[in-house]
Amino acid sequence: ELPPFDYKPAPYVGPSKEEVLALRKEHLSPAMLYHFKNPVMITHGKMQYLFDERGRRYLDAFAGIVTVSVGHCHPEVNKAVIEQTERLQHTTVIYLNNQIAEYAKELTDRMPGNLKARRGGKGGRDLGRFLVAYFVNSGSEANDMAIMMARLYTGQYDMIALRNGYHGLTGATMGLMGLHTWKANIPHGFGVHHALNPDPYRGVFGNDGPAYARDVTDIIQSSTPGRVAGFISETIQGVGGAVPLADGYLPEVYKTVREAGGICIADEVQTGFGRTGSNYWGFQNAGVTPDIVTMAKGIGNGLPLGAVVTTPEIAATLAQRLHFNTYGGNPVCSAGGRAVLRVIDQEGIQAKAADVGGHLLKGLRGLAAKHDVIGDVRGLGLMTGMELVKDRATKEPAKEETAYVFERCKDLGVLLGKGGLHGNVFRIKPPMCITKPDVDFLVAALDQALSEL
Ligand code: PMP
Repeated sequence: ELPPFDYKPAPYVGPSKEEVLALRKEHLSPAMLYHFKNPVMITHGKMQYLFDERGRRYLDAFAGIVTVSVGHCHPEVNKAVIEQTERLQHTTVIYLNNQIAEYAKELTDRMPGNLKARRGGKGGRDLGRFLVAYFVNSGSEANDMAIMMARLYTGQYDMIALRNGYHGLTGATMGLMGLHTWKANIPHGFGVHHALNPDPYRGVFGNDGPAYARDVTDIIQSSTPGRVAGFISETIQGVGGAVPLADGYLPEVYKTVREAGGICIADEVQTGFGRTGSNYWGFQNAGVTPDIVTMAKGIGNGLPLGAVVTTPEIAATLAQRLHFNTYGGNPVCSAGGRAVLRVIDQEGIQAKAADVGGHLLKGLRGLAAKHDVIGDVRGLGLMTGMELVKDRATKEPAKEETAYVFERCKDLGVLLGKGGLHGNVFRIKPPMCITKPDVDFLVAALDQALSEL
């Protein structure tokens, strides 16, 4: 049983599930419709729970693709959005408005202070405080902008990204993509080189970060003019299956890339805002300071918002040209984003992610001791993954088994995420207001589905 919860959604009034399905089939592209074999209809959400058209409650273990950070329809975020909606819904950056400016300050207040590390420790210049170079509406746009700034700033073109990485689906960001399943057969990826993935479970060098980092040196020496625009990676890969980067990888690579004149971009679209528990930003777990940080998803708790945060010097590349967008940092999203920051602080969300995430990892490891089909359990805070394999020695992906458990957990009341190149990784990344009793329910549902296999 799900833990008791004091909220009842209002009765749903509208077209039936079958009618909605028919409308979607006729008027929308089939993209993602078949996430579940039998699709779920969601009509209400409250904190860590979602409700279907019949009022049935589900535990949301995927947070709208790692986006609902502090909880569905969180009252404080709702209040901020509604108040701003009534005052002014839209204005652009060509006018002054308090929300975007105050938000930029409050957001960059959350960046770690020491920027002297930018060019590698001693002798590095203090480039000043990080600032928001640009507000956007999504993670793809943030990364698109980040690689453009890297290219403008360095005067170089070559970018290095990781195999198995995910950075978005715009023309430019699809080129960074390290997963064939998400690539379309269109021209993309000019000047992008994919490095060996430092995946401790499946990678060729196990958990030896510096060994993988040598591949980046090789790429620079063999596939570029010896100078690069930059390097981009997630700090724990998300869509690729909750894959942490091997120990010591990022510090080594950042040094190599900077020596080749490039700048280092951390894609914090999934790992930011306390999700990893131990730190506010994922890059802090790796002990590096990037030159550009891209963010989206959890930043707005579901509001369409993203940001590119960088040093004043790199941000100045945008001052060279006419460059602004229509919606980035609009007052409603800014007001909501500010509320998200307040809630993270006031409710100790980061500490919760560490505590409840630890409880979740313990539960999943308990399952791994019982079910041979579990090949790997990994994660940090509430950024967790569990990979199913047919055989622990060969690590052959257990696709059908994953599909079964995924569907069965939905019937039992838990909505999981799925990912990885072979679709055999459960991604468990709930809203960070999830509680330990919720986690116990989730682990019990997984246990039941795995036992039925
Ligand atoms: N970067 C990462 C790490 C992501 O996970 C995603 C989305 N899954 C993106 C970028 C792209 O974000 P969006 O879908 O908002 O464009």
